[in-house]
Amino acid sequence: MDYAQRIGAVRAAIAEAERRAGRAPHGVQLLAVSKARRAAEVRAAHDAGLRAFGENYLQEAMAKLPELADLDIDWHFIGAIQANKTRDIARNFQWIHTIDRAKIATRLDGAAARRLEVCIQVNVDAEPQKAGVAPDRLPALVAHVASLPRLRLRGLMVIPRPGTDVRASFRRAKALFDANAAAAGPRWDTLSMGMSDDFQIAIEEAATLVRVGTAIFGPRTGTASGALAQAAAP
Ligand SMILES: *Cc1c(COP(=O)(O)O)cnc(C)c1O
Repeated sequence: MDYAQRIGAVRAAIAEAERRAGRAPHGVQLLAVSKARRAAEVRAAHDAGLRAFGENYLQEAMAKLPELADLDIDWHFIGAIQANKTRDIARNFQWIHTIDRAKIATRLDGAAARRLEVCIQVNVDAEPQKAGVAPDRLPALVAHVASLPRLRLRGLMVIPRPGTDVRASFRRAKALFDANAAAAGPRWDTLSMGMSDDFQIAIEEAATLVRVGTAIFGPRTGTASGALAQAAAP
């Protein structure tokens, strides 16, 4: 597979969506989602020009990161955060997209050895059992995270409900982003939304960071646990 070609196509699609939306060029960051990919694949994508990679599963990431320690990579954590994993997440990632409760934020702040760039995940469609803070509880969480010294609050992250009107979900996310800007502080500049299937729509609705896996690396084969086994193999 030719990474340079795929990445070029994604970048062109990002630029096209920016143009269509009347946005300035180069205002959207491309985060390569490398869950279920081996270290060699991440290295190839890095060598083709990518510098920011996202991982969902701490155990999988911890197996991969040491192999890639020689590369200049910003690691983003985009998976569910368990309270007993906050220390390893804080120590190994530069960005965390998925803070959704005060306790997790406090623990990350306590464990951080340096400043962490963070986003709050919002359950923008108010789906039951889904990760993310409920929109009506967002202001309290924004105030809490903004008060923590080692966390730099950068914005919101959303995953719309699949198979619905994702544009409407992205629009709600943007409205929440604007409504909480004053309380969030000066570094509030990130709207993390859009994946391989819908990143152009997300950009039209004001995304500043898109999380793209499949369109860069090809289809994921097997499950996350399959990737774990792969990552752990010699
Ligand atoms: C897997 C994943 C992505 C990327 O999905 P693709 O459809 O492969 O682009 C983005 N964000 C999150 C939170 C993910 O879990």
